[in-house]
Amino acid sequence: MVVVMRAGATQDEIDAVKETIESNSLSVLLMPGSVMAIGIPSAIPTDLRDPLQQQLEIMPGVSKVTQVSRAFKLASREFHPESTVFSVGDATFGGNELAMIAGPCSIEGYDQLKETAEVVKGLGANVLRGGAFKPRTSPYAFQGLADEGLRIMKTVGKEVGIATISEVMSPDMVGLLAEHVDILQIGARSMQNFPLLIEAGKSKHPVMLKRGPSATIDEFLLAAEYLLTHGNERVILCERGVHPLDRTYTRNTLDLSAVPVLKEVSHLPVIVDPSHGVGVAKWVPAMACAAIAAGADGLMVEVHPDPRKAKSDAAQTLSPEAFAAMVEAVSKFAGVSGRSLPAPRVRA
Ligand code: PEP
Ligand code: MN
Repeated sequence: MVVVMRAGATQDEIDAVKETIESNSLSVLLMPGSVMAIGIPSAIPTDLRDPLQQQLEIMPGVSKVTQVSRAFKLASREFHPESTVFSVGDATFGGNELAMIAGPCSIEGYDQLKETAEVVKGLGANVLRGGAFKPRTSPYAFQGLADEGLRIMKTVGKEVGIATISEVMSPDMVGLLAEHVDILQIGARSMQNFPLLIEAGKSKHPVMLKRGPSATIDEFLLAAEYLLTHGNERVILCERGVHPLDRTYTRNTLDLSAVPVLKEVSHLPVIVDPSHGVGVAKWVPAMACAAIAAGADGLMVEVHPDPRKAKSDAAQTLSPEAFAAMVEAVSKFAGVSGRSLPAPRVRA
């Protein structure tokens, strides 16, 4: 249940609502915004629901009271009607300006990451991606530079002046990642690693949660709910393709229908990763444009100075030239959708 206060409701009116809820042995969650919303995250006994709603509806300062029907509560728009908007460095998630995350699949060394960071920042990217701990299907595949990769990411992020994101695969590594990068990435394979979700939730560090390849939208949002219930409000959802019906042409099936659905049922920012979504570089730009047309709040795209030499995901990685052309195409769709792309920033 969520109680939305009128604009200008007084502190006494807010306190009275809070006390009424708490007198029924229920906890409250205050959500300040343009108007104050007061949530009751836990389940309310069935026989108490309607009488409590009626009691709250007639209290001074109350605008409306809504019961949350979804399995996920804190992630739902019923509970939190306003879109969540927050900034990390120069990037805004959920706002009018799109977030543009770009960089290599894996951090391969200082020179590779620095060159990529400069190029993508110069083309408008405002977050640098790069994996240091890689979840690879085969144990024989390149596993990432681990701690050294994280140190490189931190150095390059600072030198180039760009926010950073990298994947965290286990709960014990949340602290280490949080020390080195601005956003924790929880990968598709880890979407239901509940101890990891709990630890990342407690860390309060911004988190981008990727949808599991076989996860339903409700499962995806319930995973986000773990982050939210453990106190993390800076959560970004990322659609990256679901298990495909046909792998002949694409690696995954990018479920762009998830974008308007997620935007309607949840208040959290939604990012699309067309690189893992299709798995083929030449089709990434079309899906990036489609994602923005569908209402996504930003993109995550793999870019490498020389994609043929990329140690992971070479086939889906864009060259700097291809990324530039993609940004140009995406900007047209952004304009039509009333959104804007971040302006390229050159370090002063
Ligand atoms: C990644 O973005 O580095 C990655 C491994 O993607 P996913 O978890 O979506 O497979
Ligand atoms: Mn990759």
